[in-house]
Amino acid sequence: MSSVILKKAADSFIKRKHPWIFSGAIEKVEGNPSNGQTVQIFTSDKKLIGNGSFSPSSQIRVRVWSFDSEEKIDEDFFRRKISLAQSLREKIIDGSKTNSYRIINSESDGLPGLIVDRYSDFLVCQFLSAGAEFSKKLIIEILDDIFKPVSIFERSDVEVRTKEGLQPIQGLLKGNIPDDLIEVQENGFKFLVDIKSGHKTGFYLDQRDNRALVSEFSKGKSVLNCFSYTGGFSVYSLASGAEKVTQIESSLSALELANNNIELNGFSLSSFESINEDVFKVLRKFRDERKTFDLIILDPPKFAESASQIQKASRGYKDINLLAMKLLNLGGILFTFSCSGHISQELFQKIVAGAALDSGREVKIIKQLTQSSDHPVALNFPEGMYLKGMVCIVN
Ligand code: SAH
Repeated sequence: MSSVILKKAADSFIKRKHPWIFSGAIEKVEGNPSNGQTVQIFTSDKKLIGNGSFSPSSQIRVRVWSFDSEEKIDEDFFRRKISLAQSLREKIIDGSKTNSYRIINSESDGLPGLIVDRYSDFLVCQFLSAGAEFSKKLIIEILDDIFKPVSIFERSDVEVRTKEGLQPIQGLLKGNIPDDLIEVQENGFKFLVDIKSGHKTGFYLDQRDNRALVSEFSKGKSVLNCFSYTGGFSVYSLASGAEKVTQIESSLSALELANNNIELNGFSLSSFESINEDVFKVLRKFRDERKTFDLIILDPPKFAESASQIQKASRGYKDINLLAMKLLNLGGILFTFSCSGHISQELFQKIVAGAALDSGREVKIIKQLTQSSDHPVALNFPEGMYLKGMVCIVN
């Protein structure tokens, strides 16, 4: 079996059991491991500390499967990890109301590079690391055996694969090609999901808990849902008695699906307005028209794709938050999010504080938010906490 020997300097961080070993931490590679193949990991003084997958073209040269040097990376290993992940979801998801959730959250479920989302009877996977790709066939067989889905679909059509020496791909892995749209249930609401070409694996499952929280603030309120995608926050707001929901989304197909989702849950066309436009433009137009709202949701896409985009992204976040604060009635509520991994919670709060200052409004955080509980964050993998949010009251 091939192996990697770490530099002395790596001893301290390896103790923290972070699952990524960067190329600079490796003293020597022994053998000739292929892309994704399992390698043994040795400290500088030749102590075997675990096994990981080798990725020759990535800066993250090894992703650790296990810090138990005895543990074999075989069918049993994957079966155990997948079953453990599913047993956590059974504790936190009410299966009578929700049939769509994340089953495997990559590093945080001990399976670096593997995402598995369940949409009713369908599974959608992403194989994002060389190691996950290497064991793909085995993983699919285990998923098929444990969950017995109608089909397993792959949505590895993401650029990060190229860093691992892999091409972005998508397609059917098992079963039959799903219908164009799948109807799923979330907290008792119905949503149509496009698993073949929707964003991520089809739906923003990570916002489920925050959508539920929006319900608590919506009764009798005029709600502005910015970056609405397929209408998740809109449906929850209307269901809890919002007086009117206005949603803004630049993708026409997402907005049409949002309209269908709202109607599917029994709300009439008169209860909402859909604007197929750029949020930045519409917020300025509303400001000029002196339009106001009681509750505004800002859930933009990832503004910072890399560390070099942090400044530009910060300006974007500040801009929309400032505009939103100006549009809120006295005592209005702002749900504001950032899903950029490169923007820390601390920085995001600073940006929103800057917006508050410039808006001349008095703004208080009443709750800090993060991703839903089916997207856990392993404490040895803090990078897993990518979604940051705040509920603010604006006076
Ligand atoms: N809140 C949604 C997810 C939002 S994802 C949910 O709970 O499902 C971000 C969305 O913003 C995407 O649908 C994307 O198409 C849209 N978007 C990106 N840039 C935009 C812009 N400048 N104006 C309007 N919509 C935009």
